[in-house]
Parts: sequence; C-alpha cells; structure tokens
Amino acid sequence: MRSGCLDSLRQPLESGTVTIARSIGNLTFPAQFLLVLAANPCPCGKFTGRGRNCTCTSQQVRRYLGKLSGPLMDRIDLRVQVEPVGRVDMARNELGESSQVIRERVIAARQVAEKRFAGMGWSLNSQIPARALRSTFQPERGAMNFLHDELDREHITARGLHKIIRTSWSFADLHGHSVPTMQDVQDAHAMRGKVEA
Ligand SMILES: [Zn+2]
Repeated sequence: MRSGCLDSLRQPLESGTVTIARSIGNLTFPAQFLLVLAANPCPCGKFTGRGRNCTCTSQQVRRYLGKLSGPLMDRIDLRVQVEPVGRVDMARNELGESSQVIRERVIAARQVAEKRFAGMGWSLNSQIPARALRSTFQPERGAMNFLHDELDREHITARGLHKIIRTSWSFADLHGHSVPTMQDVQDAHAMRGKVEA
C-alpha cells in the first residue's frame, strides 16, 4: 500500500468519521474501527531473528519501513515484533493459554471499565477524552512523573502520553488495580516500543 493511503487513515482514526468531498458537497460517515497493521521486516521478508538470509540493503529496509510514517505509528498503541519459530519452539509440547480463557479475562476487564465510566458517555478506555485523562483518570503520581519525563525528553509525543495512559487503564483492569500503577504505565509504554529497522 502506498504511504499516502496509509496516512489518510489518520483522520478517521482520530475522529471516528470519514468525510468525502464531492462537487455536490461534503458527506460525513461514521467510521469507528480497530486498525490492525501487519508488515514484513524488510522487502524480502527475512530480516528476522539474526537476519542471516536477508538480501536487502539497509537503504532498502529503511525505505520500506519508512512507509509507516511517524505520525501514523504514533497512533498505533500496541506493537509486537514476531520472531521466527526456531527448533526449540517447534519441539515444545505445552500449548499457550487457550483463547477461551483469554476471552473471559478480557470480558471481565471490559466490564470493570464499563462500570467505571457509567453515565459518562463512553465505555472503553480507548475512548477516555484527553481532558478527563488529565483530571479524573490520571495514573499514580510516580507514573505520571515518569510520563512527563518521557515527554520532556521527547521520547513520546503529547498524543502518545494520552494513548499510554488509556492503555495503562486496560492493564490496570486486567490486573485488578483501581488506578494504573507505575508497572501498568511502563507496560503500556513498552507496548509502543520501536519497530527495529
Ligand atoms: Zn530482506
């Protein structure tokens, strides 16, 4: 996909609406969605693990990953780098947690959030307005100091700070904390870790 197409997702991601301009006028439609992006680590797809079989030049890799612009990536809350499955992993017998068990945990966490936001006009952590994040829904004080330091060092943007707090509420709900702790905030921060180029 061309980077221009990807970047055009930024506005609907932010506003939850999409506006189409035509000669008869502007039309606005609801467009709330969950964006999941997947990308290869490089054009040949082999720049994983120790990257031994990758045939791309560093310039090609940089240009390829450059399609994911900084402002677009700033809107992606959870970034996961998937490593290739090795011999040891293949031989392992035990399976991970079942999706059913995880599903129940997620439903329980969402119910906690819904109860917290009763009567406020939203029900998900991702929907907490920026103003409410700065007043009613701040994490623990030490965690806020950590985020402000990260902002001062320009490691995160103001938008990123708000998004980390929203994600930290989901960690808090999953762990049964009434307010996001330093660990919840650091986990949310780590989930936005850079995709390595
Ligand atoms: Zn490659």
